[in-house]
Amino acid sequence: AAAESARPAPVALDRPLRVVHLYPDALNLYGDGGNIASLSKRCAWRGIPCQVNQVLMGQELDLADADVVLLGGGADRDQLAVCHELQGQREKLAAYVADGGVLLAICGGYQLLGHSYMMGEKQVEGLHILDLETVAGETRLIGNVAIESPVCDAPVVGFENHAGRTLLGASEKPLGRALVAGTGNNGEDGGEGVLHDGVVGTYLHGPILPKNPGVTDWLIARALERRGVDVTLAPLDDALETAAHDVALRIATRG
Ligand code: GLN
Repeated sequence: AAAESARPAPVALDRPLRVVHLYPDALNLYGDGGNIASLSKRCAWRGIPCQVNQVLMGQELDLADADVVLLGGGADRDQLAVCHELQGQREKLAAYVADGGVLLAICGGYQLLGHSYMMGEKQVEGLHILDLETVAGETRLIGNVAIESPVCDAPVVGFENHAGRTLLGASEKPLGRALVAGTGNNGEDGGEGVLHDGVVGTYLHGPILPKNPGVTDWLIARALERRGVDVTLAPLDDALETAAHDVALRIATRG
């Protein structure tokens, strides 16, 4: 993206934007960690101070001055471990979301935010932060996905691989509408992910942010707005990101 010489003047913030990466030691499928690189690079290229903190399994969760939180995806076993880890600290994450906090939750991390996740006969209690629930099906939904979403103009693209079928409660809206039938939250209702105030939940790995810069910028803009900073994000040279996006879109929609 942006060349070094094209950097704009630094954005004045009383403290850097704090990005908190939750449990990268447990949830990091299909390069979900690349989402952090995308967030911090797009801030740096614009002169927006940004600091990334990891919270590892067993460490105290401190979201007091968090601006963007990332929860990645993981296999059932890791997802279960993170679920146990977060149950005792649920109130912190719930308060952060209720306060309009920006959170990107991918696949297993997205499922955890709901009421429950049925793995066969076993019911895993969710965090009850969003009104949604997930039931594992007998087949997996696997493939490239493209959705239309209000968060950005370009279709959002990514790769899904999940057994869980997620149903949103009446008060929740999907992140977008699948352009390809049979993909998304449950393969049936055409919805993909969830968009709830500052929370983006989605099945899209890939990682999602590097090839969907519009989603990254939505998260950054929302976090700055919550901090009371009035800044229009400077445009970047997104030639590489757009090329990757367009390939993914072609693959997802070639039908
Ligand atoms: N365990 C979940 C499922 O298969 C999430 C998988 C993932 O994060 N890719 O539905």
